Amino acid sequence: MKAAIRLCEAWESTHDRPIYTLSATCPDCGGPAVNSAPAPYNPEDPYGEYRRALKRRDAD
Ligand SMILES: [Zn+2]
Repeated sequence: MKAAIRLCEAWESTHDRPIYTLSATCPDCGGPAVNSAPAPYNPEDPYGEYRRALKRRDAD
């Protein structure tokens, strides 16, 4: 199942909490919003931050 909910790509540096939206852009900062399905934000997941960092490195 594909989630239509997107997450502000730069929320970690731009906001103090994840910004979710149904639009392709963040309603708060106007930046790009990405599909949040692959790695949903979980405040109780201590490794989520590392996983996202690794994923970002892979994309470079
Ligand atoms: Zn934003």
